[in-house]
Amino acid sequence: MLFDTNIGAAVKCKHCGRLVVRDISLFDLTGNRMHEERCECGKTVMRIKSSDCKTFRIFINCIACDKEHLFVFKSRQVLSEKVKILGCPTSRLDIAFIGNRTLVREVAVKQQKDLQELINVLEL
Ligand SMILES: [Zn+2]
Ligand SMILES: [Zn+2]
Repeated sequence: MLFDTNIGAAVKCKHCGRLVVRDISLFDLTGNRMHEERCECGKTVMRIKSSDCKTFRIFINCIACDKEHLFVFKSRQVLSEKVKILGCPTSRLDIAFIGNRTLVREVAVKQQKDLQELINVLEL
């Protein structure tokens, strides 16, 4: 089986509220440099760092409490298991999710649909 080295990550932008969905290649993370992902509005939504491709650190700009939260994961675990929801430790709100990129996209589409439905309900 071909080992997929792309992680899917979805983060809600704290500046504009958009759900930013990105594929991140583990190979791009090598070299111990900080990898930054930006929202379409131009603001950084997450920063990722990995020193050996086996584990990585992801810094999320929290939409709920305005701080940056650090989460540490094992790459293999993230790629093989179900989508992980990252919650804000202060507010307990879901701020991001990561995992297998196909699953992340499915969850992202569903979340956006739910959000749209909620907006539709509120506008009635
Ligand atoms: Zn934004
Ligand atoms: Zn937070």
